[in-house]
Amino acid sequence: VLEVKHLKKVFGKNEVLKDINEQVSNGQVICLIGPSGAGKSTFLRCLNMLDQPTSGEVLFEGQDLTKLDDKQLDKTRENMGMVFQSFNLFPHKTVIENIKLAPVKVKGEDDATATATAEKLLKQVGLENKADAFPASLSGGQQQRVAIARALAMNPKVMLFDEPTSALDPEMVGEVLKVMQDLASEGMTMVVVTHEMGFARNVADKVWFMADGYIQESAEPKTFFEHPETDRAKDFLAKIL
Ligand code: ATP
Ligand code: MG
Repeated sequence: VLEVKHLKKVFGKNEVLKDINEQVSNGQVICLIGPSGAGKSTFLRCLNMLDQPTSGEVLFEGQDLTKLDDKQLDKTRENMGMVFQSFNLFPHKTVIENIKLAPVKVKGEDDATATATAEKLLKQVGLENKADAFPASLSGGQQQRVAIARALAMNPKVMLFDEPTSALDPEMVGEVLKVMQDLASEGMTMVVVTHEMGFARNVADKVWFMADGYIQESAEPKTFFEHPETDRAKDFLAKIL
């Protein structure tokens, strides 16, 4: 469903992504890991063109996103949900209003349909009793679960996560990972930048290890964690495990 070919991204003189060639198939869960500054966030942002690649192709369902105009891109982005480290909920809207906003405004869904979907999603993330709460009254873990529900409300084909649990207090990490794990087992295609190695090991179909502008290793989690090939990956794992 996603394929990048010779993806390159340069900021000034800083070659962040040098030559990335990878594919994500339908239903696959990819965990993208690597040291800070490796270019993980930049890569994720290139997948949905929040960052314009310097060169190369990003194919989504066979369509090269780098060739689309803004209007076509907006349409395509509806199919790619994104969840960030910071939850970015609208503070003056209730939980359910946050979730309904894009389906109503962007997709033109009628209010009843959007409400029904939002209620179903709130149940899915375990927050059915928080529909009318404001974001500030929720814990970080709850807010992040709302952010996931909001992304799902557009019925995306792919979900991109950039360190969704990094800003959370430790006791709230589990509840967010659980929602993501459920999503994965329901067959959602996901690319997840994470430092949660337990999640990568248990949930990912594939781990991509990024360093120095390249995906250095792309392997099943068991293989990667037990037998990393490159010194770069061995070094990284030694530091974090
Ligand atoms: P972390 O684990 O800390 O989130 P990361 O792997 O996500 O790191 P990126 O945020 O993608 O790394 O950054 C990769 C490099 O690109 C860094 O050197 C960063 O300074 C640079 N960079 C990222 N965004 C920009 C930008 N908008 N302008 C200039 N340089 C940028
Ligand atoms: Mg990052």
